[in-house]
This record gives sequence, structure tokens and C-alpha cells, in this order.
Amino acid sequence: MNESMERGRRLFGEEIPAFFVASEGWVWYTVYIIHPEEFMLKMTEFYEYCRENLPDLELRLAQPMSKYTSFRIGGNAELMALPKTEEELSWLLRAAKTHALEPVVLGAGTNVLAPDGGIPGLVICLKDALAGLEQLDPHTIRVQAGVTMARAAVYAANLGLGGLEFAHGIPGSVGGGVYMNAGAYGGEIKDVCTRIRIMDRAGQGRWLTREEAGFSYRHSAVEDHPWIVTAAEFSLEPRPVSEIRDKMQELITKRRSSQPLELPSAGSAFKRPQTGYAAALIDSCGLKGFQVGGAAVSEKHAGFVVNLGGATAADVQSLLRQVSDRVFAETGIRLEPEVRIW
Ligand SMILES: Cc1cc2nc3c(=O)[nH]c(=O)nc-3n(C[C@H](O)[C@H](O)[C@H](O)COP(=O)(O)OP(=O)(O)OC[C@H]3O[C@@H](n4cnc5c(N)ncnc54)[C@H](O)[C@@H]3O)c2cc1C
Repeated sequence: MNESMERGRRLFGEEIPAFFVASEGWVWYTVYIIHPEEFMLKMTEFYEYCRENLPDLELRLAQPMSKYTSFRIGGNAELMALPKTEEELSWLLRAAKTHALEPVVLGAGTNVLAPDGGIPGLVICLKDALAGLEQLDPHTIRVQAGVTMARAAVYAANLGLGGLEFAHGIPGSVGGGVYMNAGAYGGEIKDVCTRIRIMDRAGQGRWLTREEAGFSYRHSAVEDHPWIVTAAEFSLEPRPVSEIRDKMQELITKRRSSQPLELPSAGSAFKRPQTGYAAALIDSCGLKGFQVGGAAVSEKHAGFVVNLGGATAADVQSLLRQVSDRVFAETGIRLEPEVRIW
């Protein structure tokens, strides 16, 4: 049994009659053929088990992922849980394990392309759920994973602590920012993050040092392990509040003038290649405005794929593939998606 089949079994239990995976270049399509009645029964049982044993846990049934992602794309998540404390998250993970469910984790949904067919299982949404912020000492703040990076940056600014200005305009959560070492305008999470708190799928939490967090360009060790980020600590520099606010304002102005913030997107669609910049390469191939269905390469910033209205995940995937192929054919450089394709 290959790894994908194993995952399918873990996700849906032993009763799956068939399961197969196909690949086309770097885009992977996963097709699950499951027994819907048995699966529904499993989810219903799980929902009732949570209701009975942890009534305070916030659960939402059949949630459109288009409501939870900045792309405004995606079918229904069968069940969404929003744990408000680490204890709730730990309980939820243990319960999911007992029920042979493998939840997926969502932050602010600003770097995710959710499938048109929805997510047949459990989504744990941390945005605004794990929402604590505290100052630990004159230089250090601790922020829970569901806090937006903008809120963390403003909190630090109000304390007269600089270093998170770069993160102010990144629309994700701190958990999502740690997961992929988010960065902008010369700053990255790894520059200021000293420790991260993670929880494994058995519901055990622990702290990792910056080294153990394994940060590199748009990557951290969290991507390579079944971990959930629950908090992070940032070591910052005391600076005049007005200076910090001016810097944040300057970066927001830059962003507004260069990025299509008025349209739904997931930010830069492709990672920066070894040589050059994705946006410049796409532009040089004349692909600004290139459209598939409701998805298009932004006219304002060629690195962004935008939803012009009614775009599907299939439109976006097809567009990403075609852009990558054209750029490869014309420049020999292969662009890889930065957006996480679920
Ligand atoms: C307009 C716009 C501008 C952007 N500009 C930038 C930019 O300048 N720089 C930049 O780096 N990015 C940018 N992004 C992309 C995005 O905001 C960042 O990648 C951000 O870090 C994603 O955080 P999120 O909470 O939205 O993660 P999500 O999109 O919710 O999730 C992304 C991935 O992280 C995982 N994840 C999320 N939270 C956790 C957690 N707590 N524990 C474990 N895994 C988790 C998810 O499973 C998923 O695989 C931009 C996006 C938009 C829409």
C-alpha cells in the first residue's frame, strides 16, 4: 500500500472500497472513492461524540471553504472545529485520532486553494480561535497561532516594539506565518521568532527553538511533520511608536500601489525561483491578464492570480499549470506554486 493509500485509509477508515492518485507534472490530483453512507455515519458519530463530551467546543457543519479562504474558492468542509484553547485543541486531536480522522488545519486561509468538491472530513480552523497575546519581558511577546499577523504587529507597535513591521500587511495568521516562514520587504518570521509552540496529532504540546523550527525560504519544519503551531514568541527591539507606525504605513502604501488587493487572491501564486522573480518571468512571457475561466494573472502584479468572479479551483490549477509550462518553455525556469493546493 503506498503512502497516499495509507493516508486515505487513515482519513476515511478501513471501509474505502477504492482509492487512487494521479499526477500531472507538479499538480497532484487525488481522487477518493468512498462509501458515502459509511463516511457520513462516521462524521455524524464524531460530531455527536464532540457535542456530548465537549459541549463548549465550537463546531460548524457544512461550511463553504469559499467563506474561509482569501481566494473565495472551495466547496463545503464537512465539519469545522474552532478550538479556543490549547486544551480544547488537544482534546479534539485525541478524539479525531480515536475516530480515525485526520484533520486538516486552516489559519486565515490566505494561502490555500480549497477543492471545488469540498473537504470530506474535519477542518480545524485556528483563526480568531487561539487568540491570545501577551508581553513576556521588555523585548518579547508571545502570540497564539490564530492571531492575525497584522494584529500581532499592531500589538507590538503599541508597546513600542519594532521588528514585525514587515508582517503588518501579510493577511495570514501567526500560525500560518510560522508554517511557511512568511516574509515581505526584507523581513521574515525567522528573523524575529525565537521559539514556537507546536502540538502533535496525539494532542501533546511542546516548545521548539528557532533552530528546531527549521526556517528557510517560505518553509519551516512544521511543513515536514504532522504538527500544529499553537503559539510563537518574538524577540523585538524597543523603538519609538511613531517610527514603527510610519514604517508600517509606508509598507502598506507600497503594497496597495503594487498589488491587486481589491480582488480575491492568495498573494504570490508562485515561489521565487532560484534565478529571477516569478512576476518578472511571467510578465516577460506576455502572460499578464491571461485567463482561465474566472481566474486570471493579475494585470497589476503578474505574480498574483486573482479570482475575477466565479473562479473554481480547477480554473486556478489549470491556469497555474499553463503559466508554469509557458514560462518553462520560454525561459527554462520551472515555477512552483507557493499557494497550498488542498
Ligand atoms: C493579498 C495577499 C498578500 C500576501 N502577501 C504575502 C507576503 O507579502 N508574504 C508572504 O509570505 N505571504 C503573503 N501572502 C500569503 C499568506 O498571507 C501567507 O503565506 C500567510 O503566512 C498564510 O497564513 P494563513 O494563516 O492564511 O495560512 P493558511 O492559508 O490558512 O494555511 C496555509 C498553510 O499553512 C498551514 N497552517 C496554517 N495555520 C497552521 C497552524 N497553526 N499550524 C500548522 N499549519 C498551519 C495550512 O495547513 C496550510 O497548509 C499574501 C496573501 C494575500 C492574499
